[in-house]
Amino acid sequence: MRLLLVEDNHPLADVICRALQQSGYVIDWAQNAREADSWIAVQNYDVVLLDLGLPDTDGAEVLRRLRASGKHVPVLILSAREAVDERVRLLDLGADDYVVKPIALNELEARVRSLVRRSHGIADPVLIIGALHLDTVGHRALVGDRPLELSSRELAALEYLAVRARRIVTKEQLLQALYGWHDDVNSVNAVEKVISRLRTKLEGSEVIIRTVRGLGYSLGTDENQET
Ligand code: CA
Repeated sequence: MRLLLVEDNHPLADVICRALQQSGYVIDWAQNAREADSWIAVQNYDVVLLDLGLPDTDGAEVLRRLRASGKHVPVLILSAREAVDERVRLLDLGADDYVVKPIALNELEARVRSLVRRSHGIADPVLIIGALHLDTVGHRALVGDRPLELSSRELAALEYLAVRARRIVTKEQLLQALYGWHDDVNSVNAVEKVISRLRTKLEGSEVIIRTVRGLGYSLGTDENQET
């Protein structure tokens, strides 16, 4: 999953970025509204974490522009402003959730997970596809009783596909979801390698990652892949 953090407080941004990267998220950091707009224009995000008190433009304006451009990405507001009227105003502008500073990192992560689930119409934090059980809170996956030994990138790829089960995910989407700019990966070969390793690890289960020629991949079970 790829997140955008819009926050001008460097130490806070640093703490948030490190915590979320630790949990397997790819995260881009914008220090002001202008940078946020540029990131949003070129990347697909699973969640945008948006501070309100930015040095150039109010975060609410970033939100307004984002919604005006027709993007549905979930937006989690990070704010020091506790007034109820302010929360109501932001929710009505199209924010999806709200955390008040000081931020508890575990709560922040839980809200991010919840927003990702909600944006895909999923209620249960354990994703079940055939025999595959993917625990998005505990960060582990099982096929039947067998735990899958996955690298954090493989787990992130599997989760990205699993929340979009039976739908087509492009290699470009996976590339954006799995690799940050600093990873220096600019080719879909890296994605193909991750998928190939995942397929090997899923062998023997009825869970498969189908290649949709010219389009990308789709995760599902043997049965629903044969249509
Ligand atoms: Ca701020």
